[in-house]
Amino acid sequence: EPRHANLVELFAETVREHADEIALTYFDGRLTFAELDELSNGLACHLVESGVAQGDRIAVYLQNVPQFAIAVLAGWKAGAIVVPLNPMYRTHELTKILGDARPAAVISSEQGWHEVVGGVAQALEIGTAITTSELDLQTRHDQRLFARTERRPAAGCADLLAVARAHAGECPPAVSPAASDVALLVYTSGTSGVPKGATNTHGNVVFNAEGTALRLTDDTPGGIFALAPLFHITGLVVQFAAALAAGRQLDLAYRFEPGVVLDALAEHRPAFMVGPSTAYMALMNHPEVTPEHFASLRMVHSGGAPLPSAVVEAFRERFGLYIRNGYGLTETTATATSVPLGAEAPVDAASGTLAVGVPTYNTVLRVVDENGADLPVGEIGEIVIEGPMVVPSYWNKPEETEAAIRDGRLHTGDVGFMDEQGWFYVVDRKKDMINASGFKVWPREVEDVLYGHPAVREAAVVGVPDAYRGETVKAFISLSHGSTATGEELVEHCRKQLAAYKYPRSVEVLDELPKTATGKILRRQLREEARAGE
Ligand code: ATP
Repeated sequence: EPRHANLVELFAETVREHADEIALTYFDGRLTFAELDELSNGLACHLVESGVAQGDRIAVYLQNVPQFAIAVLAGWKAGAIVVPLNPMYRTHELTKILGDARPAAVISSEQGWHEVVGGVAQALEIGTAITTSELDLQTRHDQRLFARTERRPAAGCADLLAVARAHAGECPPAVSPAASDVALLVYTSGTSGVPKGATNTHGNVVFNAEGTALRLTDDTPGGIFALAPLFHITGLVVQFAAALAAGRQLDLAYRFEPGVVLDALAEHRPAFMVGPSTAYMALMNHPEVTPEHFASLRMVHSGGAPLPSAVVEAFRERFGLYIRNGYGLTETTATATSVPLGAEAPVDAASGTLAVGVPTYNTVLRVVDENGADLPVGEIGEIVIEGPMVVPSYWNKPEETEAAIRDGRLHTGDVGFMDEQGWFYVVDRKKDMINASGFKVWPREVEDVLYGHPAVREAAVVGVPDAYRGETVKAFISLSHGSTATGEELVEHCRKQLAAYKYPRSVEVLDELPKTATGKILRRQLREEARAGE
């Protein structure tokens, strides 16, 4: 059972217990839980004074900076729904998302405001605007990251830290959200196209935050490093809300930059981190990485994207660290499965797929056929999830809600299976299946084989039209640091290990694969490019 009904109470208890401990670090900037509480109280008062009412939306357009945490807590304390926005989004994406969410207030970096947010906020007539310089709470940081972020306070906008400090002594609004009230409205990052807002309730977030906090036992003393962006559900729940639930320090480092991350790990010496598999691949590939960088870590989690078992093995061999897989969606408030403490995820012998774990507490995963009927052990079908972290709906989208979330069961669009021991495996996304002469090819299986080759840093497999087979398999890869392998060598590597209909007929080498800001490889974009090039 969750210990708290909502995130406001959860945070209040942590502040009582850990007031003078460090809540956030940002390079050599620090905030204690008491300071974070005061600043978020102040900002909450300002929001309420500006007319933000319970249930209103507040959009946040920031990188991983302490102001993000202040803004989210202030939003919750004001009884509002926080809408995190990917700071890579430009006018097109912001107009779609904000047009749907209709926020009463928007909180943005100054730079973001001048470049895009200000224009969109004006067009949509968003009443309250608050900006902040993302440099404010940091003092010694690689200035290259901030080359374009000089201070330019925006006209008509309140300054976040100024208003938070001005109201800091005041009482916070008397708000106590119900467990069923929406805490976060998170738009899926859109590897599949149209953004849909998942309505993560206070109950959803508290459940998963406390679940992660429980894994951070006394054997795992120390802080959490924010490898994932805070605008993504993993960053918000498994890092931020979990740090609040556990009363642990959260280390922020602006945005994912492998070299900066390695320095920050060495400096802050966290115990836990979580991020997409591509972040681990990038860290592993950095020319200056040493085992010493990871020496303080006791637990590392990967989630939100497929984790090839070859990456787990390489990481263990080189750094002595075991990466724990976990599976979930924005619609499951991040985590739905995890690898139990003390266990290791098995690899399916037939396909080489690494298990994503077992369902977390109080959670049921089913594998169903086209008609929704349960399939036997070992058979591949759609994964359906039921549990306290499944969102009740998509915002403003009754039809999409009806199609995906029925009776509290989320139809994930992911295809997978369960083994005899109850471990789950995600084979792929339903819509990414390749149909080669009537044979099903799941891109991930081919990608796993590519990752088994030392020259491969990143891999993505897509189907391209083929006059003879209907569709044929094509791979895109980027090479590991210093490697000079050719596409032909990699075709040969796959041909030796896979059935004739599965191995890629061509492997194209790119400098980088296109990714979402959360680090997911954009197969859809590669597929479109490959088709356009036919
Ligand atoms: P969209 O839903 O629009 O495509 P998205 O991919 O960004 O956007 P998320 O909710 O962030 O949406 O991602 C959830 C998806 O990520 C899952 O449906 C699944 O396909 C994939 N995924 C998450 N964790 C894992 C994992 N451990 N192994 C394999 N796939 C995973």
